[in-house]
Amino acid sequence: MKIDLLTIFPEFFRGPLDFGILRRAREAGLVEVNVHDLREFTRDKHRTVDDRPFGGGEGMVLKPEPIFECIEKMGVAVRAERVASDTGNSDVSKPRESVILLSAQGRRLDQVLAQELSRLDRLVFICGRYEGVDERVSDYLADREISIGDYVLSGGELGAVVIVDTVVRLIPGAVGNDASTKQESFTSHAEVERDGPSSTCTSGGLLDYPHYTWPAEFRGMAVPEVLMNGNHDEIRRWRRRRALEKTLRNRPDLLDPAALSEEDRKLLAQIQSR
Ligand code: SAH
Repeated sequence: MKIDLLTIFPEFFRGPLDFGILRRAREAGLVEVNVHDLREFTRDKHRTVDDRPFGGGEGMVLKPEPIFECIEKMGVAVRAERVASDTGNSDVSKPRESVILLSAQGRRLDQVLAQELSRLDRLVFICGRYEGVDERVSDYLADREISIGDYVLSGGELGAVVIVDTVVRLIPGAVGNDASTKQESFTSHAEVERDGPSSTCTSGGLLDYPHYTWPAEFRGMAVPEVLMNGNHDEIRRWRRRRALEKTLRNRPDLLDPAALSEEDRKLLAQIQSR
């Protein structure tokens, strides 16, 4: 996968992409990341990337010209040919590229969207600053706007890093054991089935179950007995129960009764009756 980051602060990306899974994925050649300084696409002596808003109002707005010129020079497909739908790109003749504008007004990032993006070959991120980016970038250049959550950041760079991190770890080979990204929080059954045989402990859209490691007892705090008895079916049921409990407590919005198995519904009823 090729990843391009358009920013007025190229130095920002020194660091966040240089550790752990992201670093290994880059070193292994699974992803290639290029940072583009928008000031290099200006023509005036002050290298101006922003200007005052038409119609008045607070702050400054990123100008469209450097952003259009940078992307045109990169050789990505024209907007009409790029994937724009939320359903993914099933037409193999279409370029599997997306030009993404980071925006508080965008579609909110979630695991489903990250999975969709992880199947593309090239992702281009436009990082806004100040009051935002001239709307013509959203209307005529980017094919989607993504927000990382319902709050306002001071720039798109952090958002881009969050998306890149979430997406890259889903690329086959990026995480040592591909199965491990399939049993995590938010991963739906549908996603697991699409990629192959269903694992026994997928989160099925719930939050992940709790993890423990050695020592078995630490300052009087013991690891749950059930995890040490080697009974895999009991362990699976215990994990499922804890995942249901935590989801009910912290994110009840994720509990879709229709997506739960008979066993899940029983466990949930037990939890709720306590
Ligand atoms: N005036 C805008 C906020 C601008 S913040 C508004 O009210 O919606 C400046 C830049 O930060 C934006 O252009 C965008 O690129 C980035 N940004 C802010 N919040 C974001 C979020 N929740 N997700 C992704 N990017 C965000």
